[in-house]
Amino acid sequence: MSNAVFNFCAGPAMLPKPVMEKSQAELLNWHNLGCSVMEISHRSKDYIEVAEQAERDLRQLMGISEDYAVLFMHGGGRGAFASVPLNLLPVGGSSDHVITGSWSKSAVDEHQKFGRVNIAANQFKVGELRSITPTSDWQLSNEAAYVHYCPNETVDGVEFNYTPGTDKPLVADMSSCILSRPVDVNKFGLIYAGAQKNIGPSGLGIVIVRKDLIGQARIETPSIFDYQKQLNADSMLNTPPTFAWYQAGLVFNWLKEQGGVEAIEQVNIKKATALYDFIDSNDFYHNPVDKEYRSRMNVPFYLADETLNQTFLDESQRAGLLALKGHRSVGGMRASIYNAMPYEGVVKLTEFMADFVKRYG
Ligand SMILES: *Cc1c(COP(=O)(O)O)cnc(C)c1O
Repeated sequence: MSNAVFNFCAGPAMLPKPVMEKSQAELLNWHNLGCSVMEISHRSKDYIEVAEQAERDLRQLMGISEDYAVLFMHGGGRGAFASVPLNLLPVGGSSDHVITGSWSKSAVDEHQKFGRVNIAANQFKVGELRSITPTSDWQLSNEAAYVHYCPNETVDGVEFNYTPGTDKPLVADMSSCILSRPVDVNKFGLIYAGAQKNIGPSGLGIVIVRKDLIGQARIETPSIFDYQKQLNADSMLNTPPTFAWYQAGLVFNWLKEQGGVEAIEQVNIKKATALYDFIDSNDFYHNPVDKEYRSRMNVPFYLADETLNQTFLDESQRAGLLALKGHRSVGGMRASIYNAMPYEGVVKLTEFMADFVKRYG
C-alpha cells in the first residue's frame, strides 16, 4: 500500500496532482516571462490567452452553446445566492425554491432579501431519511421568475440523479457536482458553482447563463455582480481572480486529458459504489440517505458507536486520510470524493474503515 495522503475535504478540496505539479513548476517563471502568472496584468496577451482557453475548454467539456454566457466571477457559490436574484428577479418578483438540504436552504435565506420566495418542496427535515421530493409533488407557482434548486447537497449527501423539467428557467447551484457527470446545459436557465470543489481555488465563481435572461439587472446591482456588464467585459470588469482562473484552466485541461466528463463520471460511479457498498456491507457504519439519491461526491456516514468519532478521526488522519469530519451541523463523518480523488483513495479509506471495525467494532 502506498504512503500517499488522500484529502477528503469538502472544500476547498484536493486538486489533481498533475495540476498542482504544473502550477508549482511554472510558479516563478510563467511562460518564460520571468515572473509568476499571479504577477502579470490580466490585460496582457499571455493572460488573456489563458483566460479564453479556460472558457473554451469549459464550453467543450459541458457542451455549452453560444446561447449561453460563461462568466468567471468573484464571490464563489454564495456570491451567486445574491447575484442570481439581482440579475434575474424583477423588483417585487418571486422565485420558486426546492429545498433538499442545507445549501438550498441557505440560498433561500439570501434570496429572501431580494424578493418573495415560494418553497415548492422542502425535504430538509433533521433526523429523517434524507431524500428528494419527486418533481410531480413540487408546488410551483405561476408568478415565479425561475425555479432554484441544488443538484448536489454537499453537507447532506443528497444528489438528484436527473434534471427536473420546469416551465420556468431552471437555476442550479452546481457548486459540488459541476463537471462530475454530463448534464444537458440547454435544460437550464442558469448554472452556477463556487470553484473550490471540482474546479480550482476558492473565491472564483462560475456562472453559465442563457443570454436572453440577462441585461435587466436591478439598478442597485453592484457592477461586478451584473452579468451583462461582466459579459460585455469578458469577466474583466475589474481585476478577476487571475490565479484561480488560471488554475481552473489547468483543471479543465486535466479533465480533457482524462477523457472529459463522460469518462470521469465512470470513475466517480466506481468510487461512490465502492464506498457505499462497503458502508452497506456492515452494521458499524451507516449512510442516512435514500439509496436512490445518494451523492456521488459527498458521502456522509455515521459510526454505530459515536463515542468513537474522535478516535476514528485521529487514526484516519494518522493513516493519511484527511478531513473526514462531517459538517458541524450534521456531525458524523463525510468523505468528499470529487473528480480529483483517485479510486485508490477510496480503496485506502475502505481498508482503513474495515480495519477500524476489526479493532473497535
Ligand atoms: C460550497 C458550496 C457553496 C458555497 O460556496 P462558497 O464559494 O463558499 O460561497 C454553495 N453551494 C454549494 C452546493 C456548495 O457546495
